[in-house]
Amino acid sequence: MPDKTPKRYFELLEKILEYHPEADTELIKKAYIVATEAHVNQKRANQEPYIVHPLNVAMILATMGLDEIAIASGLLHDVVEDTFYTEEDLRKKFGDEIAKIVAGVTKIGKMPHYTNYDKDQAKAESTKKMIVAMAEDIRVILVKLADRLHNMRTLSHLREEKQKRIALETLDIYAPIAHRLGIGQIKEELEDLSFAAAYRAESQELHNFIEENRELNEKSLMRMKGEILALMKQSNIKGVVSYRIKRPISIFRKMIRQKIDVKRVYDLLALRVIVEDVESCYLLHSEINRKWHFMQFRLRDFIKRPKENGYSSLHTTIIYDSRYYEIQIRTQDMDNVAEMGIAAHWRYKEGIAAPEDEKKIEWFRSIIKNYKNHSSAQDFVQNLKSDLKSSEIYVYTPMGKVITLPVGSTPIDFAYAIHSKVGECCKGAFINEHHASIKTVLKSGDMVEIETDKRSAPKQEWLNHVASNRARRRINYYLSKQENIRYIERGKRIWKKHYREIIRKYKDKVENKSLEERVGFLKYNDLDSFYKDLGNYSKSLDKEALQTLFPELKIMEVKRVLKVQEKGKKNNLYRLIEVEGLSDVDISLAKCCHPIKGEKIYAYVTLNRGIAIHNADCHSIKKMDMSRLKNARWKEDIGNYTYMVQYEVTLPDKPGNLNRITNILSELNINIRDIRVEKKSKSTSTVYFTIEVSDSSQLQNIDKELNKFEGIKNSKHRRV
Ligand code: MN
Repeated sequence: MPDKTPKRYFELLEKILEYHPEADTELIKKAYIVATEAHVNQKRANQEPYIVHPLNVAMILATMGLDEIAIASGLLHDVVEDTFYTEEDLRKKFGDEIAKIVAGVTKIGKMPHYTNYDKDQAKAESTKKMIVAMAEDIRVILVKLADRLHNMRTLSHLREEKQKRIALETLDIYAPIAHRLGIGQIKEELEDLSFAAAYRAESQELHNFIEENRELNEKSLMRMKGEILALMKQSNIKGVVSYRIKRPISIFRKMIRQKIDVKRVYDLLALRVIVEDVESCYLLHSEINRKWHFMQFRLRDFIKRPKENGYSSLHTTIIYDSRYYEIQIRTQDMDNVAEMGIAAHWRYKEGIAAPEDEKKIEWFRSIIKNYKNHSSAQDFVQNLKSDLKSSEIYVYTPMGKVITLPVGSTPIDFAYAIHSKVGECCKGAFINEHHASIKTVLKSGDMVEIETDKRSAPKQEWLNHVASNRARRRINYYLSKQENIRYIERGKRIWKKHYREIIRKYKDKVENKSLEERVGFLKYNDLDSFYKDLGNYSKSLDKEALQTLFPELKIMEVKRVLKVQEKGKKNNLYRLIEVEGLSDVDISLAKCCHPIKGEKIYAYVTLNRGIAIHNADCHSIKKMDMSRLKNARWKEDIGNYTYMVQYEVTLPDKPGNLNRITNILSELNINIRDIRVEKKSKSTSTVYFTIEVSDSSQLQNIDKELNKFEGIKNSKHRRV
């Protein structure tokens, strides 16, 4: 076999000089010579001279644009492991940095063997070593990743069993670390190669599936690309559009995660647009979403909120010609970070301590910071354990089936992952055969069994206890369906009352038209959306609306046809309060805060009980759905509506307390419903009284007067 290594070496030099014209080529040459000599009699499994491997590793590092130190370390990375060279020898020849990096890579190389029996332990152990090494110098990991990548590229020369073991290890440890560091390019290649080796049959099947549909898919993608380019031209946005078909491993993961057939993986087709600046990203994003139908839950703004690994982009999934397209929009800078992650900040010019864009590598910075704050590596690892835990957990059904969930998932997520029907009626859980609440956070390795009950149903509050998108989506869907049903029911009741009134008033003048036809005049396509709008108070049946519905009538006035409150006593409340944009609504004063005229208030559209008026300071509105809050204010002409307030005033025990309070109240012209005094201790007594007030200023006056009492212990009031 002719020795091709010098050629590869010159290619390497060329590549480096491309991005780093002043690179220290002497250092690289020296590293190459030392490595060649050290490995001189060694061969790779494919019978090539061993030096081909370090050369390729160095080439991968050069593709990432790394500095000479990293590249030289790549050339030397197997020298200490496989030859007579020691770390000390390297230190003498190449200095401390390179010696340390190579030593770090060697240490990681001595990771526990990856077998099925102690997989989890091996994984934890390996990950720990990687972090410690990474904290020493991030280039250790970059070299190790390049090493693993080249090994994966040449995997086919090994025995099948060994291929599978290495591939699984790569999927479990190396690809996630590359992902964590944001190096998309390396992560994807590692995953693709590992998937093909570890899951041969599945990979082959998906490969065939993709090939069978390739022509059609590429046609669609090309057409979509043309559409986007045209849209960009129209909006004066410059940029480049590329496309691809979802990778087999991503399809596979989705099939497993959602338990669906490959034909139901809808987001097979993806396009990427690289534009000039952030403004163009947003502009194009909104143009695209305006032009095509988009899927709400697939809209993602990773520019405002970048992923932990620094990734930023805008995502949307649109439907065009009954096909789905995932579109990513980003700038060149964002693309560099997506492809190269931390490595993008590690190019030769940037130096070790001052990565250029600090915000984008927050995670990495926190590692370094932690490292500085903790003297021992042990502390450091301890501290970082949770941070490095993979973003997913693996839990099991009693039958041993593995379910993958995001970290923070609970049995609710688990139940929804099994089936949405299971999710909808999950009531309790057994975790590792112990009874547990469905809100318990699950850990990897937990065996989970769900208890269901047909009578139980998803609750709003569950949303605080789920981590998976699937569960969140299904719960929201269920709740909004229930909400709509209630709105529609209420809308029907509101309509009936108005309709009865119309018939009563106009009798035989009403023409025989279906309600469907009539709501069409109000631009409703169907009855349910009309009822729904009435029920959620976004539409009210005022004079104009009724006139439109009944063009044959001359609507003279709108009588308050609606009984405003079921309880007769308070049925004049709509006269007290004006709710923004609404008339004729069921209004009640919330029982949690009992607002009193004069106080700042809000109206909350409840699901069952019309509109509830809350005090602006009320604790419960802070927890409510803000989209259902409406502005409200007290009307001036309030008639004689009164509010009951109970007082409890504790005073030094003196005869005449009761009289004094009675006097204050009558001077303020306040109606007393009930008053009594109780002796509470040797020196104090408490006066209880219930009064009627007509607005909040009266309460303030009472409080002012009470505060003039000498030695007043406390005075509190309660609205009833
Ligand atoms: Mn190696």
